[in-house]
Amino acid sequence: MTLEQVRSKLKSYKGRNIKIMEVCGTHTASIFKAGIRSMLPAEIKLISGPGCPVCVTPSAFIDKLVEYSMKENYQVLTFGDMMKVRGNKYSLTQAKALGGQVRYLYSPLQSLALARENPQINYIFAAVGFETTTPLYAILLEEMEKAGIRNLKLLTSVKTMIPALDFLCEKEEIDGFLCPGHVSVIIGSKVYEPLAKRYQKPFVVTGFEGEHILASIYEIVTQIEAKEYRMKNLYTSSVKEEGNQKAYGAIMKYFEPCDAYWRGIGTIPGSGLRLKEEFLKYDAGSEEAFAEESLPKGCRCTDVILGRINPTECPAFGKRCTPMDALGPCMVSSEGACGIWYKNR
Ligand code: SF4
Repeated sequence: MTLEQVRSKLKSYKGRNIKIMEVCGTHTASIFKAGIRSMLPAEIKLISGPGCPVCVTPSAFIDKLVEYSMKENYQVLTFGDMMKVRGNKYSLTQAKALGGQVRYLYSPLQSLALARENPQINYIFAAVGFETTTPLYAILLEEMEKAGIRNLKLLTSVKTMIPALDFLCEKEEIDGFLCPGHVSVIIGSKVYEPLAKRYQKPFVVTGFEGEHILASIYEIVTQIEAKEYRMKNLYTSSVKEEGNQKAYGAIMKYFEPCDAYWRGIGTIPGSGLRLKEEFLKYDAGSEEAFAEESLPKGCRCTDVILGRINPTECPAFGKRCTPMDALGPCMVSSEGACGIWYKNR
């Protein structure tokens, strides 16, 4: 079937209402870029999910980083996206303005050279992310081991996607999923099969071009109409059935599953990765870097990341909450649903 035929079939769809979640922020951005919503009838609604790691990182984790940044002979290393998210008091940008030692890097591996060149400084890397980023932490740990680096530690808040999707299927009413492309490169496509079977929902592994996304939406609608639910990989150029076993193996060498706290959602069993006991010498106290918390008053990030509303349905969107003066975490990060919706409003 040609793309034009797919588009016209979707446009003329008149079946039941269908709610499809795009789990990762990169898909949300691609959907805007390709104007996908304008190609869909009112019955097919696209909603964003919890796939922005910075948005779901607990405030206590940021507080701990701020605390480290203020200590003598310490420096916090982080990705740029983490800089603007507020903890209970300050963001890392504010901590830096107050004299805290904070530096942002493009890759965790850059921290190796810093640690080697400045043995008098204790470096703390803010290790957040999903399965896409975690292999880099594994490589970092391997290099640290090899080089005997002891002045670099990781504060981890690493999350995994399958338990989060399980949680969403259990608790929320979502009819089908556009599975995250980058995460799927690592974890593979097969891991979605048990979810599709258990919850009788379509899970479609999707690339990032407009035509990939449109074809995946069509696949979801077709499965729902036929009442035949399964995992379908439409991103076979990058995602293999078993994923990237080498990268996954590297993750599992250093990390083990644990319960994880997702800001705005709460604790999701088995949805995190922590350093294994034998590597705890590289841990900067991650176990203490979370606490039950509520979002700022008036922020509806919980509803946004669980797909209950679109960001524009939050009364603060574009008023009290903008990227320049964000009320909630989903507006701050480049992968956060509210920030992406704001840029493309
Ligand atoms: Fe929270 Fe702002 Fe998004 Fe509303 S628009 S849900 S306040 S981040």
